[in-house]
Amino acid sequence: MTLLSNRQTRARVVETVVIIYGVGDRRIVTELFPGEWLNLLYSCTSQLVLSLRQMNHLLENWEQKAKDKQKDNKYFVQKLQSKRGKGVEKLLPELHEEAFSQIDCLQCAGCCKTISPRFKAPDIKRISKYLGLKESVFIDTYLRLDKDEDYVVKRTPCPFLGTDNYCSIYEVRPGDCENYPYTDSYDFFKRPNITYENSTICPAVYYILERLKTIMK
Ligand code: SF4
Ligand code: SF4
Repeated sequence: MTLLSNRQTRARVVETVVIIYGVGDRRIVTELFPGEWLNLLYSCTSQLVLSLRQMNHLLENWEQKAKDKQKDNKYFVQKLQSKRGKGVEKLLPELHEEAFSQIDCLQCAGCCKTISPRFKAPDIKRISKYLGLKESVFIDTYLRLDKDEDYVVKRTPCPFLGTDNYCSIYEVRPGDCENYPYTDSYDFFKRPNITYENSTICPAVYYILERLKTIMK
């Protein structure tokens, strides 16, 4: 039997109540936690459950909502520029964690299906070596130059994306793939047009923009 610390026990109790409360059966809670315990637990968890529901709600049908909010979101990311250096960026790591606690990249793969990372010289060198190909052969087989003279994949979905949404070169993937969607970096504010564009591709970016709108109201 595993011994739990007081902190772990409290966490387990709250977690249980959240789950029971979440399915909406107050009778079960009453039986488990009678009297004052019940009121205390209800007041502690109801706010938490409400927040969790609101967070989940944000991602429902997010693609359509992102399209509908194009104008608003463009304006909002521009407005974020003026907030740089005023503490807003400190919110990003937590919001990034929050978003990805609800989103599974393996269920999504939206970025790998719709846009290409840049393959910079070190990326090309690393990936060619990993695949056992000459750099020139790797480039000829998979890449083309875009309008900014960057190497990108010839077409999307990315040729390294498997049908199970796993990346076949994950250990050596391009730096862009590693950093995407830039939701825990300063780039989120620094490049408003890209952040806006990403909010229509990546649910995490959409989610974080919506959360920031609420927080900054
Ligand atoms: S679009 Fe965003 S959520 Fe989807 S796989 Fe890419 S990084 Fe993950
Ligand atoms: S290299 Fe891998 S992570 Fe990057 S776009 Fe292609 S499949 Fe996705």
